[in-house]
Amino acid sequence: MKFIDLEKQYCVIKNNVEKRIHNILEKQDFIMGSEIQELEQKLADFTGRKYCITCGSGTEALQIPMMAYNLSKTDAVFVPSFTFFASAESINLAGGTPVFTDIDHTFNMDPRSLESEIKRVIQEGKLTPKGIVSVDLFGRSADYEQILKIADRYGLFLLEDAAQGFGGSLHKKRNGSFGDVSATSFFPAKPLGCYGDGGAIFTDDDALYEKMCSIRVHGQGADKYDNIRIGINGRMDTLQAAILLEKLDIFEDELIKRQHVAEWYSELLEGILELPQLDDEYFSSWAQYTIRAENETQRDYLVSELKKRDIPTMIYYPIPLHMQTAYKNLGYGNENLPYCLHVSKRVFSIPMHPYLKKTEVEMICQEIKQLVK
Ligand SMILES: *Cc1c(COP(=O)(O)O)cnc(C)c1O
Repeated sequence: MKFIDLEKQYCVIKNNVEKRIHNILEKQDFIMGSEIQELEQKLADFTGRKYCITCGSGTEALQIPMMAYNLSKTDAVFVPSFTFFASAESINLAGGTPVFTDIDHTFNMDPRSLESEIKRVIQEGKLTPKGIVSVDLFGRSADYEQILKIADRYGLFLLEDAAQGFGGSLHKKRNGSFGDVSATSFFPAKPLGCYGDGGAIFTDDDALYEKMCSIRVHGQGADKYDNIRIGINGRMDTLQAAILLEKLDIFEDELIKRQHVAEWYSELLEGILELPQLDDEYFSSWAQYTIRAENETQRDYLVSELKKRDIPTMIYYPIPLHMQTAYKNLGYGNENLPYCLHVSKRVFSIPMHPYLKKTEVEMICQEIKQLVK
């Protein structure tokens, strides 16, 4: 069994994808071909944003907006500690300093921890609060009702990291449309993935859009050979855009299928282990179905026993960012952000993709039940 089965999806789109790739090889239009613009328009429509800018990866989709905010080392950007490294790394890449917040039982940024960290930073007086990176972890929107209010109250920009949440929504408003600017990733294993690296940025802000377009191509200005700021080479390949156009056509259908898989799991595993929270207003894109064991020993036992039964699992994430070697210089320890640490010792994710059959889900749940007994 596969953790994420991309081959099954490939069988569905094979003919159309191959036609599109062939077409680009024929027209030799590899950089900023017409597919890029077509995809940007469709992705903007999908999220309900005014603008979309495609780029080379999810990490660049976070880095480019952060560069547009002209961060300096004494600028603090608040980010949850329980996420993929790039959520925070991009803050450093753009010259700022990450300040980590704790999460709550939904796995997302805890708004209370966010506000107390902002207050702590203001009181200490060493860093200036500038922005927030909220993460829609595992597919579920962060708590935007609270987080947007806090961003407003302290005058901070809000950058939504929707790398895992693309396709999800909160009160029918889609991930990728929250805050000043949003980023997503098309890494193959994400809910909407391409066949390599890719990413996209979304905003409604005209000035920010112009600036980010410039940063994407080496800080270009109106004159191609007069660069007006420092940027990066951040373009998406035309080939990846063409592949994404095909995948976008079946994406809504895949989201419904993922929702079914999640509902089967939640029904069959009820009362066995701690399951992800399902709320009507939060529609998840189910990048992961992540459950919690009672303690680290039980988690490690389940993971190794399931492996013996050919059921792959993954641990997202075993080490919170504030405890990573690269962030040792920030001076965090075991006493900081206790809930992140608690969760990282208990979580594991089980197979999740749109092509899982009910019989497979039943088999996985049966094995888990027996092992927990
Ligand atoms: C995958 C991921 C990224 C980075 O995306 P890449 O395309 O791999 O650069 C950023 N944030 C989160 C939460 C992710 O899961």
